[in-house]
Amino acid sequence: MMHNQDNNYIQQITGKSKLLGVIGHPIEHSLSPVMHNAALAKLGIDYVYLPFPIAPENLEIAIAGFAAIGVIGFSVTIPHKQAILPLLTEISPIAQAIGAVNTVTRQGDGWVGTNTDVEGFIAPLQTTYQQDWSQKKAVILGNGGAARAVVAGCVQLGLAEIHVVGRNVSKLKEFRQSWENSIFADKFQVHAWDELPKLIPQAHLLVNTTPVGMYPHVDESPLSAEEMVKLPLGAIAYDLIYIPKPTKFLHLAEKQGAITIDGLEMLVQQGAAALKIWLQRENVPVEEMRQSLKNHLGL
Ligand code: NAP
Repeated sequence: MMHNQDNNYIQQITGKSKLLGVIGHPIEHSLSPVMHNAALAKLGIDYVYLPFPIAPENLEIAIAGFAAIGVIGFSVTIPHKQAILPLLTEISPIAQAIGAVNTVTRQGDGWVGTNTDVEGFIAPLQTTYQQDWSQKKAVILGNGGAARAVVAGCVQLGLAEIHVVGRNVSKLKEFRQSWENSIFADKFQVHAWDELPKLIPQAHLLVNTTPVGMYPHVDESPLSAEEMVKLPLGAIAYDLIYIPKPTKFLHLAEKQGAITIDGLEMLVQQGAAALKIWLQRENVPVEEMRQSLKNHLGL
């Protein structure tokens, strides 16, 4: 065993080490290597998880290279989550429905893609706030990539109504249309940003999927204090952002009596779900993954 810069144990690399990793562009800021290597060290297995900066024009050749060198599996982040689809031999129904893949695994001569962001998003809602969602309404701020996993997660939880709110009407229309052939097509409604005053008072679950308020813009929030005042007491406010802790959005929601959830647990749980697939194990050391991220982020 050796120590890395965060004083976490890392496994020694040997001639037999098996390879996992994450592809993205840029990739330097990815937190996945920190949490996955902490888990692999805890398990004491001969695997290593590496960051791979892959420019969009090199994606196909890189994936062919991964096959040639026997990579076991890899995470996928921006900008490859959609672009990877044609390079896969199999795509799970959830990834197909969302139209994005974040986890790829070698199987036989091909690659199988799935999306564990949905599982990651749902996990803290299911474990910490078990309740009957069938009478509840969700309001989702933003209509980008992460919002897709959040919509799918809200459908899986069985929320009665799901409202997606976006600032750009034409992108909102595209978002709506992109789900046309999916199993989730008729499960949610889209709204322009100016409809928020009507929606917030009805929200049992309010989710921020915009990057507004993310470090270093810590004084920003997608909702103003005046808008947040309309949030019902006891609502759950969920911010996908994990730095700062709390975000201004969560701080305002807390002042309003809301239950708050930040994005760290989603990050941990989507990673844990991916590791279970690659290692074909029921249990992975989630606490090590969580703690390694907290140490790394100084939380
Ligand atoms: P994205 O695809 O770029 O989508 C961002 C969305 O936010 C877009 O709909 C964008 O609107 C909207 N937006 C941006 N600025 C806004 C503003 N000032 N007011 C209103 N809406 C605004 O990004 P993403 O991949 O979905 O990621 C979004 C956030 O989620 C990031 O902070 C990311 O770190 C976080 N995230 C966390 C996790 C986790 O595991 N915790 C996982 C995924 C993502 P336009 O389309 O009009 O630009």
